[in-house]
Amino acid sequence: MSVRAYIGIGSNLLNPLNQVITAFNEIGSMPKSKLIMKSSCYSSSPLGYKDQPDFINAVVLIETELSPHELLSELQKIEQLHKRERSFPNAPRTLDLDILLFGDIRLNSPKLTIPHPRMHERAFVIFPLQEIDINITIPLIGDIAKIAKELDPKIAKRITL
Ligand code: AMP
Repeated sequence: MSVRAYIGIGSNLLNPLNQVITAFNEIGSMPKSKLIMKSSCYSSSPLGYKDQPDFINAVVLIETELSPHELLSELQKIEQLHKRERSFPNAPRTLDLDILLFGDIRLNSPKLTIPHPRMHERAFVIFPLQEIDINITIPLIGDIAKIAKELDPKIAKRITL
């Protein structure tokens, strides 16, 4: 049985736009999974530690027969492929992949929390997510359209390619 899952993609190093676009293809090539839709790319300033380049973010919808933990493991393999481009120890990551939603399940294991616990606070997740489906409800959190209205549109800007 296949499940619809949303994956958040982020990069701020080594041509981030290219990293994200490459990740679209790699996610589409995961076993037992199909890429259904991808959002536009968004640009946002870094949260927390400011002395680093802006981020490029996007969200994809997939259909997958993988379990949540199998999906995490496939996504980590893709992150590893991108980390190979790291040029020095402890360089910031070139690609971050998060499972945002997995069907309507709620999961809290040592390795995996679904829905992703901070997704509703992040314009760079919520804006691309609502572009794919404005009717999403985040379990225990609420309707995405309402959440999006409370976020500052200046924080994550849609990039037209
Ligand atoms: P980070 O360095 O912030 O990307 O965190 C990576 C770690 O977060 C991974 O080792 C995962 O085990 C854990 N994690 C917990 N929940 C999630 C999730 N929903 N999606 C991706 N990673 C997750």
